[in-house]
This record gives sequence, structure tokens and C-alpha cells, in this order.
Amino acid sequence: MKKYDVIIIGAGHAGVEAANVLNKQKIKTALITFKKSDISYLFCNVSIGGSAKGIVVKELYALGGLMPIVADQTQLQTKILNKSKGPAVQALRAQVDKLNYPKLMQEKILEMKYLDLIEDEVIDLSFDAKNKLNGVNTKKNKYIKANYILICTGTFLDSKIMQGTDIYRSGPNNLKTTSGVSLQFKKFNLQLLRLKTGTPPRVFKDSINFDKLKIEPGSNDPIYFSEKRLITKDYQNIPAWILYTNQKTHKIIRDNLDKSYLYSEEITGIGPRYCPSIEDKIKRFYQKDHHQVFLELESENLDTIYLSGLSSSLPKDIQDKFLKTLPGLEKVKIAKHAYAIEYDSLNPIQLKQTLELKKIPNLYTAGQINGTSGYEEAAAQGLVAAANIANKINKKSPFVLDRNEGYIGVMIDDLTSKGINDPYRLLSSRAEYRLLLRSDNAIRRLYKKAYKNSLIDNNTYDLWKKRIAKIDNLILKITNLKVTKKEQEIDELLKNKKISIKENTFPIINLLKRPEISIFDIDKILTLKLKDFFDLTIEEKKHLEVEIKFEGYIKKQEIEVRKYLKYQNLKIQDDFNYQDILNLSKEAKEKLTEFKPSTIHQAKNISGISPSDIIILMNFLNKKN
Ligand SMILES: Cc1cc2nc3c(=O)[nH]c(=O)nc-3n(C[C@H](O)[C@H](O)[C@H](O)COP(=O)(O)OP(=O)(O)OC[C@H]3O[C@@H](n4cnc5c(N)ncnc54)[C@H](O)[C@@H]3O)c2cc1C
Repeated sequence: MKKYDVIIIGAGHAGVEAANVLNKQKIKTALITFKKSDISYLFCNVSIGGSAKGIVVKELYALGGLMPIVADQTQLQTKILNKSKGPAVQALRAQVDKLNYPKLMQEKILEMKYLDLIEDEVIDLSFDAKNKLNGVNTKKNKYIKANYILICTGTFLDSKIMQGTDIYRSGPNNLKTTSGVSLQFKKFNLQLLRLKTGTPPRVFKDSINFDKLKIEPGSNDPIYFSEKRLITKDYQNIPAWILYTNQKTHKIIRDNLDKSYLYSEEITGIGPRYCPSIEDKIKRFYQKDHHQVFLELESENLDTIYLSGLSSSLPKDIQDKFLKTLPGLEKVKIAKHAYAIEYDSLNPIQLKQTLELKKIPNLYTAGQINGTSGYEEAAAQGLVAAANIANKINKKSPFVLDRNEGYIGVMIDDLTSKGINDPYRLLSSRAEYRLLLRSDNAIRRLYKKAYKNSLIDNNTYDLWKKRIAKIDNLILKITNLKVTKKEQEIDELLKNKKISIKENTFPIINLLKRPEISIFDIDKILTLKLKDFFDLTIEEKKHLEVEIKFEGYIKKQEIEVRKYLKYQNLKIQDDFNYQDILNLSKEAKEKLTEFKPSTIHQAKNISGISPSDIIILMNFLNKKN
């Protein structure tokens, strides 16, 4: 009989991050998955990161995760999203290679000394006579023993694929579906939700007329989730393309809506609100005469293009028809049709913040099984669940990130305190302390906690600690640094930027705090005047710039955090009149009046109450008291 400390079921994005954490802590683990080739498979788009998610990947790097390094090593194109907006919402998106990403992850998994990769199917969980979890039953290996189980089975639970009227039981990509775990959850009276998601068609590159498309290049230089020093691959900057749907496309889709499974009466699954299918978009936003479609090459070694924005569950012949109405796709050949998938997931309100089930000790779940959607959300949960299993085994306190410490903390708090109704995806609007949760400061925010929880090693900790001390020291020096108008570089800069300053001598931060001046405009001056400045990386310089430029706003948010921590237990009277609070949203007034929370903390956990509602409520009560 095989025996382990921990069994992870599923080697998707959650499972591999979990395996990495447990392996680093020398905990004997079995990673059971259908096939080795399923490891970190990219079922949908070929990108890692993006709005809010890109910040999660940076956080994963600070917590010793695998996803950032594998994404950097297999990137085809990178881009900073929301560049014209403030630093709080800027995030990196990397288009990665669909073949190389899982391949590299497989290599990393196979190198893990304390991990056995087992190709098998878990039929169900095993419990002893006292109903204590003691392992899993599998198809080939039969019983495998372990005290801790982490389920990361993604969209494979009791799933079915829909393409128009063609509906069949299947996992994604026509892989197996599995129902034993779902049945057991039902026996334990756990609440399961029926959710759905979809994927767009893939088409052959040589059947597209690219002359008709707008080219969308990536950044000129590579940008990394991790650090340049760790990446050996040259940057590709493979372009993407953009096209728009038109009235002809919309007419075909509208005329055939009754053939879409999504609009049939059989549908029970709830789809992702923030990533709707093309049928959904055309029905919901009927006044829009076009929708944007991004075309992305799937791999350097594949001749297929991913059509981002066109997920659908219409029949194949209708997909053939509407695709041919798109400019450049008149002669398109489809490599793989779009489909939708419906699956079981657990309402995550039944989990502790450690991702352990409240009802079943030592059983943890992570990833899409918890109702989230996205590779990054899954990876982050895998890391958190495994860190908590390791801490429980090692009798250490739980690993929990607060909402002011990371997007990962925001997500897990949302999931476990509010539960979900539809697939959960991370958005920057879910975070109330956005300016504290930036891409550029992920290491600063998390490295101490990462070290305390054995997620990073001594060398990494020492390196990051020294670097942060160096940046802090430079911030202090820059804050105290004065320059004069007579200096040649300053004189040129003032002229070039048409800035007039009265004083002859002034602090250089008066320049840096201006929106039209970036750290790179004063790079030469700082390099000349400050010994340590020259060897900062571009990333570190940007971080230093944000810390100086936005110092006032950052301090303000830090005060909000302290206020929340202090006032979360502030009592609210049952008969409190929420209508008195002018700035509170209408929905918040209704919900708070209905649920009558007795503390700020309880108010925060009511579904539909946003983080900014809480800040408004807290400030009001605070003033009143
Ligand atoms: C059709 C489709 C469209 C999607 N569209 C989007 C999108 O547009 N945007 C987005 O962000 N995300 C999308 N996703 C979601 C994204 O793919 C997932 O969120 C992510 O892969 C979840 O990671 P995970 O680790 O939870 O599970 P997965 O990556 O699905 O991995 C699950 C693993 O579990 C294994 N497994 C399952 N059951 C068993 C068992 N009984 N025994 C052994 N092994 C088992 C499987 O082999 C698999 O390796 C889509 C997914 C699908 C399927």
C-alpha cells in the first residue's frame, strides 16, 4: 500500500503550486492526475496575468511560486495593461507558449525530490470507521493512504460539454469527467454549485488574411513577473492582432440564439459575468454594433490562432458561418470549435481561510473547484492551501494573507466570507486598498511572511531584505537631495519640460512629484549624485518612483487599514438608519437595512457590500461616535 503525508488530486495550476510548496518543505506528497500531459495545461487563453491577475502572479513570485518563473521563461509577448492609469491598477500580461509552458512545468514537477507523480484517476475519498479522512481510492492503484488531501480537480467534476445541441458528459478538451468526489460532497451535505465557462474557436494561421487586421505588438523590451537575472530565454515579442465583429456577424448569431445551449431551457450552470460568450455579449449589449476580438498565436510550434472574445456554445456550422463574416477570416479554416462546459464546484463559504473544509478536517480544496475562474486564481489558492497543510503538519499557525497584504488575501477573504453565485474572477475593484496592493511592491509586502512560512529560502530572504533596505535608504537620500537650476542637467530638463520653478535651489522630489517627470528623466542626475542608485534594476527604480510620487496617497490608505483593524468590531445599533449616510450606494443601504449587521466586520461579509461602502460606513460611525 502506498502511503504519503499529503495527496494532491489534480496537476492543474493549483495542484502544481501546491506540490512545489510541499516539496520545498520536504513533505512526502503524491500528486495524482489523469495524465502527465495534463500538468498545467492551458485550457483556454494563452496568457498569464492581466488586470489584477498580473499582480497576483507578482505576489506568487514573492511567495516562492512557480507560475511567474515558468511564464517568464515561456513568454511570447509581454505588455503592461492600464499603462495610462495610476500605478495601483497597472499589471503585466504575458502571452505564453501553449506547449512550452506545461512542458517546463512538467520538468519542474518531475525534478521534485519529495513528490511522486502518479498517473491515475481518483474515484473517491476514503474515511476510516470513525469517519476520519485517511486517503483516496483510485482506479489503478486502488487505496492510497494519506492524512491530508488537497483537491484541485478544476472543471472536471461531473462536467458536460455543450456545442449547440451536441451535449455530452466530458471533462474539458474531451478529457475524462469524474463524479465520485461530487457524490461524496453531496453525502456530506456540502453545497455544490453548477457553474459554466466557455472557450473560443482556434483557427489555422495560414487561412487568415493578416493584411486586413490591425497589428498589436507587445512591449519593446521584455517585462518579467520574476526577475531578469533568473530568465535565460530571449524575448520574442510575437505580435497579436485585432479585428472587430460586424452587423453580419451579429445577425447570424442573433438568428441562431435558440440553438445556443446557453439559451436553452436545459442550462443550469451559471456563467462568468466578466468573460461572457459572444452570444451573451450580442444579447446583453444589443445596441453595440461591434465587439473587439484579439488574435493570438498559441505557440511557436503550432499553426493555430486563439480568437479571444469569441467564446461560444453555438453549433459548429453556425460558428463556421459567423467566423467567415469577420474581416480577414473570409476563408478561415477552424482547427477546433468553441464549446462551453458545465461543472460542479463547491461553494467556498464552506471553507476556512486556510482553504480547509469546515466540515471535514484535513481536507482542503483549491482552484476552480472553489468556484473561481482563471489560472492565476487557481495557482494562488494551491499555494495557500499547501502552505496551510504544511503549517498544520509542522504545528505552525495558519498562513493567512489579509486584504491589505495582497490580492490573494482579498480573493480568499471574498470566497470564504461571502461565497459565490457565479464564477469568481479577481478584479482590481474587489480590493479596497488598491494603492497598497501594487505590482511594483509585491516583494516588499510579502517577503517577510513568505520567509516566516518557509515559502522562500534564506538566500532569497537575505537578498530581498538587503535590496529593500537599499531602496528605503535611497528614498531617504532622494527626499533630502537638493539641486540648483544652474546645474546643466536640471537646466535642460526644466527647459525641455517647460517647467518654471521660482527657487534657485530646491528639493529634487519637487520635480519627481510632478506628473510629467518620471524617475528616468532624472536618472542621470541621481546616478551622478547618489552612489547606490546606478545598480538598481528598472523595476526597482519604478518602485522607488511610485513610493515617492504617491507617498501621500499611500499613507492615507495605510491610515484606512489601521482604522479598519481598530474599528472592525465597532457596534452598529439594530435600528441604525443607513439612509442618513449620503455617499453610501443604494444597494448597500438596502442590504444593510435588510441584514442589520451588528459590527463593521459583519457588514463587510454581506454579499453586495463593497469595500468602499465599508470605508464610508466606518468613517460615518467613527465621526458619530
Ligand atoms: C473550456 C474552458 C474555458 C475556460 N475559459 C477561461 C477563461 O476564459 N478565462 C480564465 O481565466 N479561465 C478560463 N478557464 C479556467 C481555467 O482553465 C481554470 O480556471 C484553471 O485551469 C483552473 O485550474 P485548476 O488547477 O483549478 O484546474 P485544472 O487546470 O482544470 O486542472 C485540474 C486537474 O485535475 C485533474 N483531475 C481532475 N479530476 C481528477 C481525478 N478524479 N483524478 C485525478 N486527476 C483529476 C485533471 O487531470 C487536471 O490536470 C477555462 C477553463 C475551461 C475548461
